Amino acid sequence: MKYLFSPPPVTSAAIVGMAERFPVHRIYCVGSNYRAHAEEMGNTGRDPPVIFMKPVDALLPVEVGAMGRLPYPSLTRNLHHEVELVVAIGEGGADIPVSAAQQHVFGYAVGLDMTRRDRQSEMKKRAGPWCIGKGCEHGAPLGPITPRTQVAQLDEGVIALSINGSERQRGMLAQMIWSVPEIIAHLSAAWRLMPGDLVYTGTPAGVGPVERGDLIEASVSGLEPLCVRLE
Ligand code: MN
Repeated sequence: MKYLFSPPPVTSAAIVGMAERFPVHRIYCVGSNYRAHAEEMGNTGRDPPVIFMKPVDALLPVEVGAMGRLPYPSLTRNLHHEVELVVAIGEGGADIPVSAAQQHVFGYAVGLDMTRRDRQSEMKKRAGPWCIGKGCEHGAPLGPITPRTQVAQLDEGVIALSINGSERQRGMLAQMIWSVPEIIAHLSAAWRLMPGDLVYTGTPAGVGPVERGDLIEASVSGLEPLCVRLE
């Protein structure tokens, strides 16, 4: 096979305890999935989950024990942090029932849904798509993936984020409006999930701006932490 130009490299993430890497197929994201954050963004109740996607090559994979470098993106003066539990899909499928969802999960990681909040707010007012707010280059930092077999139940525990050592976000996974199995069931009704899909599952309250030079430290109980420096 001859291509007109070199095909893009495969985007991949580190896996804790394995030499193999996790090749990424798609990046799905759930919005407004913790009640307190939904309220701070002006939403209430348990509406159907808000789904959006990020470009696969927006992934900023960070290795075990390393620090990621995030160039401050263009077209924003209000880049926000959102710490999220990320689900890595290992087994694909369509119309997956909630009861079978866990077996489609390869593992979990800590991720950041970096957001041009000013651009997203403009598009919300116009009832337009969020791509310009959510799809920025390097806008999906991701820590190493811990295989599901090495993690206890991930339906409780703390999810938190600090900037320069000062805590900004803290929530409990149990506060998620839509659980991981429910998200998988919902997504797989709309798209056939594939091995390599990542799902960012929403952020707790406390989102806010970051500046050049800031150190973001993000964590979820039982997973490798994620450290990123803004440049
Ligand atoms: Mn988010």
